[in-house]
Formats: sequence, structure tokens, C-alpha cells
Amino acid sequence: MAVGAILFQLERSQWWPAEMLWRHQAAQLRLLAAHARRTVPFYRERLADLDMEADDDRFRDAWLRLPILSRQDVQAAGDDLISADLPESHGVAGDIFTSGSTGKPVRAIRSQLWQLFWSAVTVRDHLWHRRDFSGTLAVIRDSAAGKAPYPDGKRADNWGRSTMALFRTGPCVSLNVTTPVDLQVEWLTRADPDYLLTHPSIVERLAGHCLATGTRLPRLRQVETIAEALRPRVRELCAEAWGVPVADMYSTRETGYVALQCPDSEAYHVQAETMLVEVLDGSGRPCQPGEVGTVVVTPLHNFAMPLIRYELGDVAEVGPPCTCGRGLPVLTRILGRRQNMLVMPTGEERWPMLSSGDIRTLTSLAPVGRYQFVQRGLDLIALRLTTHRALKPDETAALQKWVQQKFGYPFNVVVETVEALQAGPSGKFEDFISEVAGGR
Ligand SMILES: [Zn+2]
Repeated sequence: MAVGAILFQLERSQWWPAEMLWRHQAAQLRLLAAHARRTVPFYRERLADLDMEADDDRFRDAWLRLPILSRQDVQAAGDDLISADLPESHGVAGDIFTSGSTGKPVRAIRSQLWQLFWSAVTVRDHLWHRRDFSGTLAVIRDSAAGKAPYPDGKRADNWGRSTMALFRTGPCVSLNVTTPVDLQVEWLTRADPDYLLTHPSIVERLAGHCLATGTRLPRLRQVETIAEALRPRVRELCAEAWGVPVADMYSTRETGYVALQCPDSEAYHVQAETMLVEVLDGSGRPCQPGEVGTVVVTPLHNFAMPLIRYELGDVAEVGPPCTCGRGLPVLTRILGRRQNMLVMPTGEERWPMLSSGDIRTLTSLAPVGRYQFVQRGLDLIALRLTTHRALKPDETAALQKWVQQKFGYPFNVVVETVEALQAGPSGKFEDFISEVAGGR
């Protein structure tokens, strides 16, 4: 079983010293870069001068001089970033859509080999946090319309393909993340899960609601969080509301797992066997422990669409070696975005983030460069877009209708094309802004 073989390797490599990890990374980076230069048009010139024969130290210096790949670059490159010759052993490629934390829709292609590594790290997280596979896992995550709708949600008899490949598990129950919070709590009470996997901003609301109403989740043992920056307050709330700890994960749709919380501390371990993670200061130098910089990643095994020195748009603090003894590099904090909520005319708050399918639809309706939603009133939403040409009337009408369907209410929708969309005062770009009192 391929996932098992990778996992067995990961069990050993997590204890390797940093220098040994770098030697293995450097070998894989050379293979990736040579493949990209040979088969991916975008990299032909960009990597022309990279000396693959250099020793590891000189290769590291050369690597640090390679240009950073921005989301804008990825968007502009389009199919030029896709390999014309994916090695047969990497399986077939599949695509997903994401906007990350930048509002710029990006199509990413990932190979089956990449997915095997993704699966292995998924199971690593379960093993690190000593989860009882016989328990019930509740997931509040999918935002696509009609997926796992309240009141029943969706039930599967296992925790998913990755875990099922190696372990017998209990059931996994899921609920659409756009469900209002009081109904999420009601569903959770019925589901009575051992583990809950969702976004930090949802956990915050769930725990707050449970505290206010005295609702307990008696079987709950641990909360797993994904996809947003986790604030310390959310850990405290989980302890207060349910008496359970939080295990956080740092991952993105297009790159996979960046770092997982250490089982023995609140630090994060970079998943160095599957990704090179660089944290760079303002002048592009690697940050030292205690310093904060921008996160730049290179997934090591995705030869279908190599992302080399890809800037995620997040900021992180580098930490000293972890007391647990693992050699995997440490991030102390990840300062990413936090999701704003949509306020419905009824006062309910809803999760407005776009799913991969939503982004696929949005970009099929109009030539969208970058997008941002602004809720200007209880029944008024502006969809702000950068486009390379003026929108046609039928495109505008289609966008308006789609926004109403997506958010489940006949909002007045204004479509505005703008020259540029800028980051907010925090320095972070937000794809959903609420100007409505009560929204954040
Ligand atoms: Zn550790």
C-alpha cells in the first residue's frame, strides 16, 4: 500500500536532524527543477541558470536567488505552468480552484503522487494527535450549495480515503459550513462526535454559542482546525466550552499541508518531507528564530504543475528547534487571514467563502482577474472585480443571479469593475468585507 510506505518513511524522517532533511530536500528540488525546466514552458528561462550540479550549500545559495512566484504570476501564466510531460509513475493529474487569501482565482493541477503524499500527511496528523480511529469525526467545512445540507448533513461510514487505506475507522458526519450557528450546534448535539474538524472562525462561534446556552458536547475529545489563522482566544474558548484542546493545521488547497501542530506543544512543524517552506524577511533573506516573514513554499512532489518559491500571502514567525525532538523545522505562529461573515437580513451570520466549484463557476461567467465581495447593507452586496475588458450586460446579469444563488437570498447585487483591489489596513487582502454592524 503506497500511503503506508510513505507513512513508514515519514515516521522515521520526522526525527532526522535539520541538515539531513535539507540534503533530502535538495535532492528532490533538483529533480523538480530539472523536470520543470525541461517540460514546463514558464520555467524554461526562469530556471535556465540554476546549477543542478552544485553541492548542497551552493545549491541553497542559488535557490535563494530564484525569483518568487506570486499568485499573479500563476494567474498570468495559465497553462504555461502545466507540465507537458508528467512522468507516468506520478499518475494522472486533476484540477482544483482556489483564491487562497488573495481573491485571485487560481486553477491548480495536482498529480496522484502529490495526493498520496497528501494522504500520508493526513494520517500522520491523526497519529501525532493519537486519535481514536473508532470515534465519530464531525466535519463542518464544505461551502458548496446543496452539499451536506441541514438538518441531516451527510454521513459516511469512514473518515475518508486517506485514513481508510490504513485503518478501520468510525463514521464521518458532515454539515454545510453556511448553516447558521444555532443549527450547527443543534446538529452537533445530535451527531455527538468525538472529533470536530472545521475553521477557527466557526469554532469561535460554536464555542461562544455553547457557552451562552450551556450546551455540552459530552463525547468531544479534540477540535481540529484548518484554513485560517488560529487565534489564542479560540483555544481558550474550546477549553471553556467543551474542555478540549485544539490541534491546528496549516494547509492550502493548491499546495497541500504546509505545517501541522506538534503533538507535544503548540508549535507547528513544517512538513519538510513534502514541501520546502521558506520564511523570508523584507530583503528576501531566511528569517531566524523569533523573526517574522512572508511564507514561500515549494511542494516537492507535484510535477504536474510545479510551484517553485510560491508566495502564499501569509506571514509566519520562525521558532527554535522543538522540545519534542523532531527535526522538522518550527513555526511558532502563523498570521494569516480571518474570514469575515455575511449577515443575512434575518440577522443570522453565514460563512461566505467560495468553494473550489464556486470559483470555477465565477470564472466561467466573466473574465475575472481578482474578486472581492463587500456587504454594504443588510440586503446589498457589491461584487468588485478586476477584468481585462468591460463586462457585457448578460455577464453582469449572470453574476448578479449567481451571487443571489450562492448566498441564498435575493440580495441587491451591484457588480463593479475596478482598476485594482488593494489590501486592507491590516495589510491582508480580504475577499469578503462586511460594512454591516455586527459583521466583522
Ligand atoms: Zn514538536
